[in-house]
Amino acid sequence: MTAIRFASLGSGSRGNATLIEKSNTRILIDCGFGVKDTKARLERLGLALEDLDGILVTHEHGDHIGGVGRVARACGVAVYCSHGTHLTGRLGKVPDLRLISSHKRFAIGDLEIEPVPVPHDAKEPIQYVVGDGAMRLGVLTDLGSITSHIRQCYARCDGLILEANHDPVMLQQGSYPLKLKRRVGGAYGHLSNGQAQSLLRELVHDKLQHVVAAHISDKNNTDLLAQQSLAEALGCCADEVPVIDQDTGLHWMSLQTRF
Ligand SMILES: [Zn+2]
Ligand SMILES: [Zn+2]
Repeated sequence: MTAIRFASLGSGSRGNATLIEKSNTRILIDCGFGVKDTKARLERLGLALEDLDGILVTHEHGDHIGGVGRVARACGVAVYCSHGTHLTGRLGKVPDLRLISSHKRFAIGDLEIEPVPVPHDAKEPIQYVVGDGAMRLGVLTDLGSITSHIRQCYARCDGLILEANHDPVMLQQGSYPLKLKRRVGGAYGHLSNGQAQSLLRELVHDKLQHVVAAHISDKNNTDLLAQQSLAEALGCCADEVPVIDQDTGLHWMSLQTRF
């Protein structure tokens, strides 16, 4: 059986796109990059636009949805999003739109997709747990607080891509206007390093193979602070926690089936 592999084209406020592959099925979660940029970033991972079987949208913020419509129009790939996200009109016209329920699982090729509603300042934001029946990868960014439903859905994941957006002191002392500081740090904003750490303490278990830090703010955080927070929950060294870079993304990692 082939393993689930995952990679990222980039993560942060200037664009996000997570790539997940199982056998011949390849999906993107979000696409905050233009067509040319997406092509170039996929090429780094040995893929072309035509290799994609679907783009799952999490919410309508530009760093996630910005390139989805353009990429879909360029290659005809199916786009999956919640009704609320679609209602914002940010997608534009796409050739193959699939509206999904925020609570209902569905499949794309060899991948099983579980949408999870999250508290974030968007119309109907969801995040996703993606599996193949044996392994599960949880992708969790763009949320200001943790619900018991989130804890339940992300328990027993074999891999986690987890937001560690900001350090609260850096956010407080930084250059953002007060309103934006409140939004980012609020219950519908983004996870701080500390929030990510305490969630990870709850989610960590023997079979968790990879935890990757994502959506790190370039103004209100550093890679090292984010890595230290997650490493503490995992009981490992900070440099053992991979970080998704805004420009270079993350190279392929795989979830190995253990017998
Ligand atoms: Zn975002
Ligand atoms: Zn957002």
